[in-house]
Amino acid sequence: MNTVRKLADGTEIPLLGLGVWQVGDGRECEDAVRWALEAGYRHIDTAQVYGNEESVGRAIRDSGVAREDIYITTKFAPARRDPVAELEGSLRRLGVDQVDLYLVHWPQGGPTRAWAGMQRARERGLARSIGVSNFDVGELAAVIALGGAAPVVNQIQFSPFEYRRALQDVCERHDIAVEAYSPLGTGRHLGDEALAAIAGRVGRTPAQVLIRWSLQRGLIVLPKSVHQDRIAQNFDVFGFDLGDDDLAALDALDRTGGTATAHEHPWW
Ligand code: NDP
Repeated sequence: MNTVRKLADGTEIPLLGLGVWQVGDGRECEDAVRWALEAGYRHIDTAQVYGNEESVGRAIRDSGVAREDIYITTKFAPARRDPVAELEGSLRRLGVDQVDLYLVHWPQGGPTRAWAGMQRARERGLARSIGVSNFDVGELAAVIALGGAAPVVNQIQFSPFEYRRALQDVCERHDIAVEAYSPLGTGRHLGDEALAAIAGRVGRTPAQVLIRWSLQRGLIVLPKSVHQDRIAQNFDVFGFDLGDDDLAALDALDRTGGTATAHEHPWW
């Protein structure tokens, strides 16, 4: 399996990234990012509201891996006014000239409110690519209807238990890559019995099975961990395949009815 995907704007994104939501600023975040880069990750997913961009930047600089070899995503905190000004702050904290991907974190204030500012951020070279997060079908349509650059990514909660198949289909039709956030259900899905049975059958851990399912279902996937062994384990998913029966059994865990919505309980 390829380890990168080409986005609609021609750039390439690594399929597996480390998520750093709820990873403490300072030592905890620096260690997690360093261990991820040592394990082979080349993609880090942070956000302005995570409060750890400085640690992400420091760990990247200290790693010795070239900046251009690492894909950095951050997200616009949509309660703020200006995506350009907020991205300038992110770049200062990260210590880089440009991020690879800048997302509207959620559609607060309406789906189109931030989009002109997001496009300005890209035109000024502050972000190579722009996209959205937590957008449903109608919200994506509203952004696309503006007629400018369309989002190249929609980052949404996604796993076999939240198999948002209708939303994924619409994204694919518009060449919007889907990024799976909370691919392990923020840890909650890992104890599921049906998942454990599949993991036992294929000789992998439940986390590896969920991450592999995301890859085989055409998603970019962003697992989070602050433990070195788990960070390495979560990246060790390119050397096995889930068979059709296992994929179907995982698909059947969906609790959303294949929904086109991005979220059952929006927090904004
Ligand atoms: P995940 O679904 O990735 O699950 C992380 C949890 O699983 C943690 O408790 C972690 O524990 C545990 N875990 C990770 N790997 C293993 C393993 N191999 N074995 C056992 N337990 C494991 O969590 P998130 O909800 O954080 O989602 C991942 C990322 O998605 C976020 O960090 C963020 O980047 C993004 N996200 C984006 C959102 C958005 O609105 N755009 C919203 C939510 C998430 P431990 O760390 O202790 O190892």
